[in-house]
Amino acid sequence: MPWRRTASDPKPFSDLRPKGDDTAAFPPSLLDGYRKYRERSHTPHRPDYERLAVYGQEPQVMVISCCDSRVTPEGIFGAGPGELFVVRNVANLVPPHGPDGDYHSTSAALEFAVQALKVRHIVVLGHCRCGGVKAFLNGDAGPLSPGDFIGKWMSLLEPAAEFRCLPAERAEDPQLALEYAGVRQSLANLRTFPCVRLLEERGRLSLHGAWFDIGSGELRVLDAATGRFELCTHRPGIPANP
Ligand SMILES: [Zn+2]
Repeated sequence: MPWRRTASDPKPFSDLRPKGDDTAAFPPSLLDGYRKYRERSHTPHRPDYERLAVYGQEPQVMVISCCDSRVTPEGIFGAGPGELFVVRNVANLVPPHGPDGDYHSTSAALEFAVQALKVRHIVVLGHCRCGGVKAFLNGDAGPLSPGDFIGKWMSLLEPAAEFRCLPAERAEDPQLALEYAGVRQSLANLRTFPCVRLLEERGRLSLHGAWFDIGSGELRVLDAATGRFELCTHRPGIPANP
Protein backbone atom coordinates (compact mmCIF):
# COMPACT_ATOMS: atom_id res chain seq x y z
CA MET A 1 0.00 0.00 0.00
CA PRO A 2 1.65 3.21 -1.16
CA TRP A 3 0.54 5.39 1.78
CA ARG A 4 2.28 3.19 4.33
CA ARG A 5 5.77 4.16 5.36
CA THR A 6 8.60 1.78 4.57
CA ALA A 7 11.93 1.14 6.26
CA SER A 8 13.62 3.36 3.69
CA ASP A 9 11.58 6.44 4.63
CA PRO A 10 13.88 9.02 6.19
CA LYS A 11 11.66 10.03 9.13
CA PRO A 12 9.38 7.69 11.09
CA PHE A 13 6.28 9.36 12.56
CA SER A 14 7.77 9.40 16.05
CA ASP A 15 10.47 11.80 14.90
CA LEU A 16 7.86 14.26 13.67
CA ARG A 17 6.23 14.63 17.09
CA PRO A 18 7.22 17.50 19.38
CA LYS A 19 9.77 16.50 22.01
CA GLY A 20 8.46 15.99 25.53
CA ASP A 21 4.92 15.75 26.83
CA ASP A 22 2.38 16.25 24.05
CA THR A 23 -0.17 17.75 26.46
CA ALA A 24 2.32 20.32 27.72
CA ALA A 25 3.04 21.36 24.14
CA PHE A 26 -0.62 22.18 23.51
CA PRO A 27 -0.98 25.99 23.53
CA PRO A 28 -2.10 27.11 27.02
CA SER A 29 -4.16 29.93 25.51
CA LEU A 30 -6.29 27.33 23.74
CA LEU A 31 -6.81 25.33 26.92
CA ASP A 32 -7.81 28.52 28.72
CA GLY A 33 -10.20 29.39 25.91
CA TYR A 34 -11.65 25.90 26.03
CA ARG A 35 -12.25 26.24 29.77
CA LYS A 36 -14.18 29.47 29.20
CA TYR A 37 -16.11 27.89 26.35
CA ARG A 38 -17.20 25.01 28.57
CA GLU A 39 -18.25 27.37 31.37
CA ARG A 40 -19.98 30.05 29.33
CA SER A 41 -21.24 28.34 26.21
CA HIS A 42 -21.43 24.59 26.35
CA THR A 43 -22.52 23.79 29.90
CA PRO A 44 -25.43 26.29 30.02
CA HIS A 45 -26.74 24.94 26.71
CA ARG A 46 -25.85 21.32 27.10
CA PRO A 47 -29.35 20.02 26.25
CA ASP A 48 -29.18 21.86 22.91
CA TYR A 49 -25.80 20.35 22.16
CA GLU A 50 -27.02 16.89 23.09
CA ARG A 51 -29.99 17.30 20.75
CA LEU A 52 -27.62 18.35 17.96
CA ALA A 53 -25.39 15.38 18.66
CA VAL A 54 -28.28 12.91 18.59
CA TYR A 55 -30.41 14.30 15.75
CA GLY A 56 -27.66 15.82 13.61
CA GLN A 57 -27.31 19.16 11.94
CA GLU A 58 -29.90 20.90 9.78
CA PRO A 59 -28.32 24.22 8.84
CA GLN A 60 -30.27 26.30 6.35
CA VAL A 61 -27.26 28.37 5.30
CA MET A 62 -23.84 27.57 3.91
CA VAL A 63 -21.18 30.28 4.18
CA ILE A 64 -18.01 30.28 2.11
CA SER A 65 -15.55 32.52 3.88
CA CYS A 66 -11.84 33.32 3.98
CA CYS A 67 -9.40 31.60 6.34
CA ASP A 68 -8.54 35.05 7.69
CA SER A 69 -8.61 34.93 11.50
CA ARG A 70 -10.32 38.34 11.64
CA VAL A 71 -13.40 37.16 9.77
CA THR A 72 -15.60 34.74 11.70
CA PRO A 73 -18.93 33.95 9.99
CA GLU A 74 -20.57 32.64 13.16
CA GLY A 75 -19.64 35.84 14.98
CA ILE A 76 -20.66 38.20 12.18
CA PHE A 77 -24.06 36.56 11.74
CA GLY A 78 -24.61 35.79 15.42
CA ALA A 79 -25.06 32.10 14.67
CA GLY A 80 -25.00 29.31 17.18
CA PRO A 81 -23.94 25.68 16.73
CA GLY A 82 -25.84 23.91 13.99
CA GLU A 83 -26.94 27.10 12.23
CA LEU A 84 -24.22 27.68 9.64
CA PHE A 85 -22.37 25.20 7.50
CA VAL A 86 -19.06 27.00 6.99
CA VAL A 87 -16.25 26.41 4.52
CA ARG A 88 -13.18 28.56 4.82
CA ASN A 89 -10.40 28.82 2.28
CA VAL A 90 -7.91 31.41 1.09
CA ALA A 91 -9.89 34.41 -0.24
CA ASN A 92 -13.30 32.69 -0.04
CA LEU A 93 -13.05 31.32 -3.56
CA VAL A 94 -15.15 28.65 -5.22
CA PRO A 95 -13.50 26.78 -8.09
CA PRO A 96 -15.58 25.91 -11.15
CA HIS A 97 -17.13 22.46 -11.35
CA GLY A 98 -14.25 20.14 -12.23
CA PRO A 99 -14.92 16.42 -11.83
CA ASP A 100 -11.36 15.37 -12.73
CA GLY A 101 -10.69 12.85 -9.97
CA ASP A 102 -8.39 15.23 -8.10
CA TYR A 103 -8.92 16.45 -4.52
CA HIS A 104 -11.44 19.29 -4.22
CA SER A 105 -12.20 20.21 -0.62
CA THR A 106 -14.44 23.21 -1.29
CA SER A 107 -16.39 21.31 -3.96
CA ALA A 108 -16.78 18.36 -1.59
CA ALA A 109 -18.19 20.61 1.13
CA LEU A 110 -20.49 22.24 -1.41
CA GLU A 111 -21.72 18.87 -2.61
CA PHE A 112 -22.50 17.79 0.95
CA ALA A 113 -24.23 21.06 1.84
CA VAL A 114 -26.44 21.07 -1.22
CA GLN A 115 -27.14 17.39 -1.78
CA ALA A 116 -27.15 15.99 1.76
CA LEU A 117 -27.95 18.92 4.08
CA LYS A 118 -30.15 20.62 1.47
CA VAL A 119 -29.23 24.14 2.57
CA ARG A 120 -31.53 26.88 1.23
CA HIS A 121 -28.93 29.63 0.96
CA ILE A 122 -25.25 29.88 0.06
CA VAL A 123 -23.41 33.06 1.04
CA VAL A 124 -19.99 33.90 -0.36
CA LEU A 125 -18.48 36.25 2.22
CA GLY A 126 -15.58 38.44 1.15
CA HIS A 127 -13.74 40.89 3.36
CA CYS A 128 -11.47 43.93 3.39
CA ARG A 129 -7.66 43.75 3.27
CA CYS A 130 -7.75 40.12 2.11
CA GLY A 131 -4.20 38.76 2.08
CA GLY A 132 -4.99 36.32 -0.74
CA VAL A 133 -6.32 39.07 -2.96
CA LYS A 134 -3.35 41.25 -2.10
CA ALA A 135 -0.99 38.41 -3.08
CA PHE A 136 -2.78 38.15 -6.44
CA LEU A 137 -2.49 41.89 -7.01
CA ASN A 138 1.22 41.81 -6.15
CA GLY A 139 1.85 38.81 -8.38
CA ASP A 140 5.55 39.56 -8.64
CA ALA A 141 6.16 38.56 -5.02
CA GLY A 142 6.92 34.94 -6.01
CA PRO A 143 5.77 31.67 -4.44
CA LEU A 144 6.04 30.99 -0.71
CA SER A 145 7.16 27.41 -1.37
CA PRO A 146 8.07 25.29 -4.42
CA GLY A 147 4.48 23.99 -4.55
CA ASP A 148 3.10 27.53 -4.90
CA PHE A 149 -0.29 26.37 -3.68
CA ILE A 150 -1.45 29.94 -3.05
CA GLY A 151 -0.41 31.07 -6.51
CA LYS A 152 -2.32 28.22 -8.13
CA TRP A 153 -5.37 28.74 -5.92
CA MET A 154 -5.44 32.50 -6.45
CA SER A 155 -5.30 32.05 -10.23
CA LEU A 156 -9.04 31.39 -9.80
CA LEU A 157 -9.25 35.18 -9.60
CA GLU A 158 -7.91 35.73 -13.12
CA PRO A 159 -11.31 35.79 -14.85
CA ALA A 160 -12.64 37.97 -12.05
CA ALA A 161 -9.86 40.50 -12.52
CA GLU A 162 -10.61 40.59 -16.21
CA PHE A 163 -14.39 40.60 -16.32
CA ARG A 164 -15.96 41.23 -12.93
CA CYS A 165 -14.31 44.40 -11.62
CA LEU A 166 -16.68 47.32 -12.11
CA PRO A 167 -14.73 50.33 -13.48
CA ALA A 168 -15.97 52.65 -10.72
CA GLU A 169 -14.90 50.20 -8.03
CA ARG A 170 -11.51 49.71 -9.65
CA ALA A 171 -10.94 53.46 -9.79
CA GLU A 172 -11.86 53.82 -6.15
CA ASP A 173 -9.68 51.02 -4.77
CA PRO A 174 -8.18 48.20 -6.91
CA GLN A 175 -7.98 45.73 -4.03
CA LEU A 176 -11.55 46.42 -2.94
CA ALA A 177 -12.67 46.04 -6.55
CA LEU A 178 -10.98 42.66 -6.77
CA GLU A 179 -12.41 41.53 -3.43
CA TYR A 180 -15.88 42.32 -4.78
CA ALA A 181 -15.03 40.71 -8.12
CA GLY A 182 -13.83 37.56 -6.38
CA VAL A 183 -17.23 37.18 -4.71
CA ARG A 184 -18.98 37.68 -8.06
CA GLN A 185 -16.65 35.14 -9.68
CA SER A 186 -17.29 32.59 -6.95
CA LEU A 187 -21.04 33.01 -7.39
CA ALA A 188 -20.60 32.45 -11.13
CA ASN A 189 -18.49 29.36 -10.43
CA LEU A 190 -21.13 28.03 -8.02
CA ARG A 191 -23.57 28.06 -10.92
CA THR A 192 -21.27 25.76 -12.93
CA PHE A 193 -22.22 22.96 -10.52
CA PRO A 194 -25.23 21.21 -12.07
CA CYS A 195 -26.91 20.59 -8.72
CA VAL A 196 -26.62 24.25 -7.71
CA ARG A 197 -27.90 25.53 -11.02
CA LEU A 198 -30.84 23.13 -11.02
CA LEU A 199 -31.93 23.89 -7.46
CA GLU A 200 -31.59 27.62 -8.02
CA GLU A 201 -33.77 27.38 -11.14
CA ARG A 202 -36.38 25.50 -9.11
CA GLY A 203 -36.34 28.17 -6.39
CA ARG A 204 -35.03 25.82 -3.74
CA LEU A 205 -31.60 27.41 -3.37
CA SER A 206 -30.53 31.07 -3.29
CA LEU A 207 -27.03 32.39 -3.82
CA HIS A 208 -25.80 35.56 -2.13
CA GLY A 209 -22.67 37.69 -2.05
CA ALA A 210 -21.54 39.76 0.92
CA TRP A 211 -18.45 41.65 2.01
CA PHE A 212 -17.36 42.50 5.56
CA ASP A 213 -15.26 45.46 6.73
CA ILE A 214 -13.18 44.24 9.65
CA GLY A 215 -12.46 47.64 11.16
CA SER A 216 -15.87 49.30 10.92
CA GLY A 217 -17.98 46.15 11.15
CA GLU A 218 -19.89 47.17 8.02
CA LEU A 219 -21.57 44.42 6.07
CA ARG A 220 -22.31 44.97 2.40
CA VAL A 221 -24.67 42.69 0.52
CA LEU A 222 -24.54 42.16 -3.23
CA ASP A 223 -27.74 43.60 -4.65
CA ALA A 224 -29.09 41.39 -7.41
CA ALA A 225 -30.84 44.35 -9.08
CA THR A 226 -27.91 46.79 -9.20
CA GLY A 227 -25.04 44.30 -9.24
CA ARG A 228 -23.36 46.37 -6.53
CA PHE A 229 -22.42 45.74 -2.94
CA GLU A 230 -24.81 47.84 -0.87
CA LEU A 231 -24.51 48.68 2.82
CA CYS A 232 -27.13 46.78 4.76
CA THR A 233 -27.53 49.52 7.37
CA HIS A 234 -30.77 50.67 5.69
CA ARG A 235 -32.37 47.34 6.56
CA PRO A 236 -34.70 47.16 9.59
CA GLY A 237 -33.01 47.00 12.96
CA ILE A 238 -29.43 47.39 11.72
CA PRO A 239 -27.71 50.46 13.20
CA ALA A 240 -25.79 52.87 10.98
CA ASN A 241 -22.09 53.17 11.60
CA PRO A 242 -21.04 55.89 14.04
ZN1 LIG B 1 -9.06 36.88 2.99
